[in-house]
Amino acid sequence: MDHPTPLCLHCEAAPQATALRLCVGCAARRGVRNLYKPRAGSSPEWDAHLQKLVERAKKRLPLFPEGETAALPPRPRPVNERNVNRNVRVHLPCQSHPGEM
Ligand SMILES: [Zn+2]
Repeated sequence: MDHPTPLCLHCEAAPQATALRLCVGCAARRGVRNLYKPRAGSSPEWDAHLQKLVERAKKRLPLFPEGETAALPPRPRPVNERNVNRNVRVHLPCQSHPGEM
């Protein structure tokens, strides 16, 4: 077999069957699904980095070879409506002239 079916990211016992790369059993559990949903800032490069660390941990190798502290720079925060800096103008009522803005 040239390309074995990849195993479920969570249980590593059954073949992947969903877009989240989980088996049917794990995908049926909401808590497990939430654990593997893409997060803000996740990218294919970051996912590959995490998979590399998982493989190193399984082999009981140091996660970061000597002299290497991090394989990737911190994840960039995606620009969306929540984290864009905004200037908000607030009109407070005038203390000297109540009723005016
Ligand atoms: Zn599974």
